[in-house]
Amino acid sequence: AKRQGRNRFHYYTPAMHEAATARMRLSNDMHVALADNQFKVYYQPIVELATGRVCKAEALIRWQHPRLGLVSPAEFIPIAEDTGQIIQIGDWVFRQAAEQAVHFRATHHPEFQISVNTSPVQFKADTENHTPWFAYLKELGLSGQSIVVEITESLLMETRDEIGAQLLALRDNGMQVALDDFGTGYSSLSYLKKFDIDYLKIDQSFVRNLMPSSNDMVLCEAMIVMAHKLGIKVIAEGVETESQRKLLKQIGCDYGQGYFWSKPVAAEEFEKLLTR
Ligand code: C2E
Ligand code: CA
Ligand code: CA
Ligand code: CA
Repeated sequence: AKRQGRNRFHYYTPAMHEAATARMRLSNDMHVALADNQFKVYYQPIVELATGRVCKAEALIRWQHPRLGLVSPAEFIPIAEDTGQIIQIGDWVFRQAAEQAVHFRATHHPEFQISVNTSPVQFKADTENHTPWFAYLKELGLSGQSIVVEITESLLMETRDEIGAQLLALRDNGMQVALDDFGTGYSSLSYLKKFDIDYLKIDQSFVRNLMPSSNDMVLCEAMIVMAHKLGIKVIAEGVETESQRKLLKQIGCDYGQGYFWSKPVAAEEFEKLLTR
């Protein structure tokens, strides 16, 4: 047992020890994963509900581990956040997404956008975190408008001044900002007043059981009305059925994303979706 202050003991059980070891192993494996090309970026279409057009894609990382097979980002991203490896991984995802944006803009639509997930850790330390991104966009001759940066409320909950400055720098470089998983967590509406947000992503927990005149329907509708009054567009996540699509369109939701259209797929697969 390890003593932690007065009268507080932590007992490490064999199961806890095993979990800690597994995390350490994954963290070690992550070091080689980038160099060894084990990461891939998958893309999931985001569809404009009014027209049915695929106008954006969310970039979602995949890890093909040589021994463990496919490891879920839900499992390794938190570890990468703890170890700081998320900075390198995040930069790599950004580059992949930007290169794809160049391609999709040329072959599909000149205003096509790719949204990239970020972790609060990527906004830590100094205000220069995203400078390499701006340089890379320039190198590619790509407009910042091709990238939507997805952030979570946990970032906005932090009170550090640099966060506002970093978000501003992203927007100054033309990028847009989406608030991910909206409606979960603390959902303080004051964030919407304090920070410039372009998109709200309604979390799939509100969409899953969407039915006419259900509570979820009322909540979705309220979020959409509020967002629109603030000049924010709304993306509904986790749309799986035609009925959900129809209801969301009916209450004025701007975009949908989910298995109803497609799971996240490799870039080559995604191109086929675009030409379909
Ligand atoms: P997220 O950003 O909320 O991404 C949406 C998740 O929902 C994705 O899981 C996606 O595959 C899944 N999804 C999409 N449509 C549906 C649907 O219709 N039904 C259901 N049940 N699920 C759907 P995924 O790809 O496993 O990613 C999990 C989480 O890992 C993401 O949640 C995000 O928080 C994180 N993540 C993924 N890629 C990155 C990355 O490059 N950087 C960072 N920082 N986090 C990432
Ligand atoms: Ca996301
Ligand atoms: Ca989400
Ligand atoms: Ca999430």
